Amino acid sequence: MHSDSPPVIIIGAGQSGLAAAKAVRSHGLRPLVLEASQNRSGSWSYYYDSLHLFSPARFSAMPDVPFPGDPDRYPHRDEVVSYLESYADRLGDVEIRTGTRVTQITTDGPEFAVQTAAGEELTASGVVVASGSFGNPYRPYLTGAESFGGDIVHVADYRNPEPYVGERVVVLGAGNSAIQVAHELAEKSTVTVARLREPEFVPQVVNGHDVHHWFDVTGFDRIPGTWLALLAGAPLVLDTGGYRAAYEVGRLDQRPVFTALGHNEVEWADGRREHVDAIVLATGYRPDVDYLRSLGALDDAGQPRHVGGISTTHPGLVYLGLEGQRTFASNTLRGVSQDAEQIIPALAAYAGGALSALGL
Ligand SMILES: Cc1cc2nc3c(=O)[nH]c(=O)nc-3n(C[C@H](O)[C@H](O)[C@H](O)COP(=O)(O)OP(=O)(O)OC[C@H]3O[C@@H](n4cnc5c(N)ncnc54)[C@H](O)[C@@H]3O)c2cc1C
Repeated sequence: MHSDSPPVIIIGAGQSGLAAAKAVRSHGLRPLVLEASQNRSGSWSYYYDSLHLFSPARFSAMPDVPFPGDPDRYPHRDEVVSYLESYADRLGDVEIRTGTRVTQITTDGPEFAVQTAAGEELTASGVVVASGSFGNPYRPYLTGAESFGGDIVHVADYRNPEPYVGERVVVLGAGNSAIQVAHELAEKSTVTVARLREPEFVPQVVNGHDVHHWFDVTGFDRIPGTWLALLAGAPLVLDTGGYRAAYEVGRLDQRPVFTALGHNEVEWADGRREHVDAIVLATGYRPDVDYLRSLGALDDAGQPRHVGGISTTHPGLVYLGLEGQRTFASNTLRGVSQDAEQIIPALAAYAGGALSALGL
């Protein structure tokens, strides 16, 4: 390929963007990664301070680059940051432009025009959307929130329990983040988990092995569509720290979700009102893809239109790292590269065709 032919532009330099860069290059195309922050490790450094991976190191690595250290330990957040930075270093000649936020994408013929916050316009033969969801926390409407005098924070902005010491805190949600954060807050605050549905606790160790061992040997992580049954059911919580016991014996208070907020109060489903200092929304995230809006690649709810990560609106546009986009493991360190291997060939076929149509 001609060295000045348009690159495949990859938006985001987290694990998804790095996996995409490797796969794009292996198809003989030139990847250019654009990253809004100064990091080459995605959003990991913004996750809460106590975070350890829910999978052991041996099941948390990208292909060809083992996670350093004891393979059976659960690495800390900061180790993931270092791991991804060194993964980026090993990509060698792949250009990763940090401090470059994509604001809009348009098409002109077979190519894409990618605009950045600095006012640049770059031409791409194909686009990989790998911008994650951490930048788009989901904040549900809460009746009475306008008059609530306490803090309402999304768990995306939560770092550690210090600001909440001695306070009355309600955590809204019942997934992994909700239970983990409520559990650590409960050491120094009075905490209630306000749930919409009962969580389903998955034991960390099954028959002497971490549950990820069984996901691997059964092929569960690789079966397209497996996630559907799970996501349709209860929120899944990996029981890494005696969470189930705490939840079920009442050491961690939990109730059906409140019905309204008032001035520094929540109103519980049984009609009781109670003073609350802070509400932590552990209500999840949505894909951070607003820059695709004017392209017409999103549905009315702002979600990507795709099948298994391949855009159904624009050939040459693909997604990586969407939750459950192909398998249960899609949005994980262990699963994203297998998705890249499945999806990038479709993009390469398009980008190769687009380039030859231009005589490049
Ligand atoms: C609290 C928490 C705990 C998790 N724990 C685990 C775990 O234990 N194991 C596991 O495998 N997975 C875990 N995950 C899930 C997943 O692995 C992580 O969310 C991971 O960070 C996703 O990687 P990503 O590359 O898809 O997205 P991100 O890490 O979010 O990276 C996306 C990148 O895109 C950039 N970006 C966004 N918009 C733009 C734009 N317009 N222009 C340019 N750049 C942009 C962002 O700055 C960011 O660097 C966890 C997730 C959360 C939230």
